[in-house]
Amino acid sequence: ALSHDRDITLITPSAPMKAPTHGGRAKCLQRLVRLELPVPRTVALSFDAVHRIASGDLPDMNGLLSSFDEDALLCVRPSSEDPDWGGPSAILNIGMNDARYVALSDEIGHEAAAALYLRFVQAYAIHVARLDPDQFDEIDETGQAGLSAALGAYEEEAEEPFPQDPAVQLCEVLRSMARAWEGTTARLLRQAKGAPVDAGLGLVVQEMALGIGRGECGSGVLHLVNTETGQPQLTGRYLSQSQGRDALRQRHRSLYLERDPRGPSLQDKAPEAFEQLIEYAHLMRRRLREEMQIEFTIRGGAVHILDGVRVERSSRAALRIAVRMAEDGIISEQEAVMRIEPRAISELLHRQVAPNAQRVVIGRGIAASPGAATGRIVFSSAEAQASAARGEACILVRRETSPEDIRGMHAAVGVLTERGGMTSHAAVIGRGLGLPCVVGAARMNFEIHKKTLVGERGRVFREGDVITLDGTSGAVLEGSPETVEAALDDAFQTLMGWADAARDIDIRANADTPADANTARRFSAQGIGLCRTEHMFFDAERITPMREMIFADTPEDRQAALAVLLPMQRADFTELFRIMEGLPVCIRLFDPPLHEFLPQDRAGLRDLAEALDLPVSDVTRRVESLAEYNPMLGLRGVRLGITVPEIYDMQARAIFEATLDASREGAPVVPEIMLPLVSARREVELVRTRIDAVAAAVRAERGRSFTYRLGVMAETPRACLRADEIAPHCQFLSFGTNDLTQMTYGLSRDDAGRFMSDYVQQGVFSEDPFHVLDVDGVGELVATGAHRARATTPGITLSICGEHGGNPESIAFCRDVGMDYVSCSPFRVPVARLAAAHIAL
Ligand code: PEP
Ligand code: MG
Repeated sequence: ALSHDRDITLITPSAPMKAPTHGGRAKCLQRLVRLELPVPRTVALSFDAVHRIASGDLPDMNGLLSSFDEDALLCVRPSSEDPDWGGPSAILNIGMNDARYVALSDEIGHEAAAALYLRFVQAYAIHVARLDPDQFDEIDETGQAGLSAALGAYEEEAEEPFPQDPAVQLCEVLRSMARAWEGTTARLLRQAKGAPVDAGLGLVVQEMALGIGRGECGSGVLHLVNTETGQPQLTGRYLSQSQGRDALRQRHRSLYLERDPRGPSLQDKAPEAFEQLIEYAHLMRRRLREEMQIEFTIRGGAVHILDGVRVERSSRAALRIAVRMAEDGIISEQEAVMRIEPRAISELLHRQVAPNAQRVVIGRGIAASPGAATGRIVFSSAEAQASAARGEACILVRRETSPEDIRGMHAAVGVLTERGGMTSHAAVIGRGLGLPCVVGAARMNFEIHKKTLVGERGRVFREGDVITLDGTSGAVLEGSPETVEAALDDAFQTLMGWADAARDIDIRANADTPADANTARRFSAQGIGLCRTEHMFFDAERITPMREMIFADTPEDRQAALAVLLPMQRADFTELFRIMEGLPVCIRLFDPPLHEFLPQDRAGLRDLAEALDLPVSDVTRRVESLAEYNPMLGLRGVRLGITVPEIYDMQARAIFEATLDASREGAPVVPEIMLPLVSARREVELVRTRIDAVAAAVRAERGRSFTYRLGVMAETPRACLRADEIAPHCQFLSFGTNDLTQMTYGLSRDDAGRFMSDYVQQGVFSEDPFHVLDVDGVGELVATGAHRARATTPGITLSICGEHGGNPESIAFCRDVGMDYVSCSPFRVPVARLAAAHIAL
């Protein structure tokens, strides 16, 4: 049998009542009781009690009923630990029967009493007796006629009269709600929302304050903020002669709360009750330290508070609410910071598809770069540029993007690709530009040559058709659903300032262009952690000297081509140094395989032959000779720097000359030069010797001094394992976890997107390791590298610059292994700042 005081408890200020045993609603109602709000008598049933009810062990109903007024009607509502986990619908008006109907008719009139009874019969028939809902939903007579029809239908379907004993009614209601919670569908639904397998359900049985009767009676809901913006705004509805959520369901009949030119209001009808409600709402906000929605009833002018639930809110509203609570002294600044999910903040940095917009999904891929973009479909970068020139927004649709698409990407408002994953070209560039991007939409059909895109359900889209990318969810949508603007407002800045005060790891940005650097500054990055210099060569005007350099047969020819590139690079770096105003700028020397700069198709080869004044056959042969079977593991990174050292010499010179130029105008610059794809100590020694020589030459020529810091990217497994012998030759080590993940798994970062979703769905990988750092495997290499580097070189600066740098869980790992900073795409800097604060607090 149930012990009456532990499992079935009248809610009083001192009753033992906790969310993990009685659920959130019971706990909240107790807090309202403690605030001495007019809450009707309520009894809470614990998770244990409800579980036992589901298995047939029923409490003494008469004992339970004796807690309430003899002729009270009751309602039962679910109370799960987390309201998001759902639960059975509330059942109102328990206790209604023929005798109560007669008694109530005298008090509130036949019509109203019949309406209450009818509602109870309907709810009981559908949710408790589980009779065919159509039989009861379709009753359209009201009053006594409807009631008779419902009672008749009940008797026919259930083959017994409608139960009259309140104890029986309550018992059946409790049993059906308890069983509904234990059903498979309900369990799967809540597990999908993160509920544990054994999540419990509590129930609250509450005496009803009838919103139907003489004098001003009714019910409604109320809260104090706008749920979209988080700005203070009295919100809610009230409906006279109603109960439950009628005021929301029958909006056309319900009243405004506050006096309003558009129609009648509660304030007009019952000014005192209105004032009192506002007072209660503020009291709840202050004492429960949360924006709450109040469910209330007014009976004969008197206010009753039935329930309070946390106000649902958009991400931007959540942020403003937290900031206002802290500014009002209700919560601390740290708590405000902790209340905002770092991931949610990235939504605020971009335009988004409106939460309630109509969505017609035509395909799905990986959500590679957040935000919403609407535009006309184009299938090539040239068309994208033409479209931009006409002032028309366009979405660039490609099988995958390559460096040649950079201009097209700049011109487009969003990018959609068939192939690729989180670190594919389109994804990395998209995030860098803050351009919404969906990649790896392999179930759509990309018929680029026919200029058609076929949706997952077969719908055909052609050039010029309008689509919308939701880079936040990975969905591709038809047409132009409603969107909401980015929200970098004062509340955002305030919260980020509090986060910065709390965190203890620096955040830099990966930035290749002045636009990236400006974004990095706008988001208060503490420097540039990775400038990928190869991205600076994709411009049409630069690709020709680049190709001349690649085709040079003699050192003289090569020098001549490099001499053309030198001033361009110098100007690039000067500009970056200027924008960053003395903050550290880490420049990575040239990384990709040379063939990436060469044309692959016939037309391109012909153009190049023309430009170089060579026969097409020569050019073709040369292109073929540079092709590699596995370019990602071929002649790239520092390997290029060792075999064709003039390129790095040129870049080092450009960096040093820019250092002197920029230092003359502003804060002194100490450039950081980083070597990619190192796997052996000797590589560092060789390159360092040459860079030192370039530095000495520039100092001598300019007659001015400067220093620089040399660093190594730890992005091969061997570099991590041999970090102890590499570290003494450099000042910093930055973990390139994109390549390191690729090499540790032996998994191509550009091809993994094709099967990643299968792998994640089948639980082979718990997450895409290119997105969330694989702490067990790749992480062990990172930790080993960090540990071994610090063992021989305690003062060395450690950091991460792979895409993982912007991922909250990965940042926690980086901090644990003692990194000084993380560097991520500029648009992820705010997420990283907030995540780092959460970890430190
Ligand atoms: C990396 O490999 O982690 C990295 C940052 O370099 P990239 O992505 O340019 O190869
Ligand atoms: Mg790399």
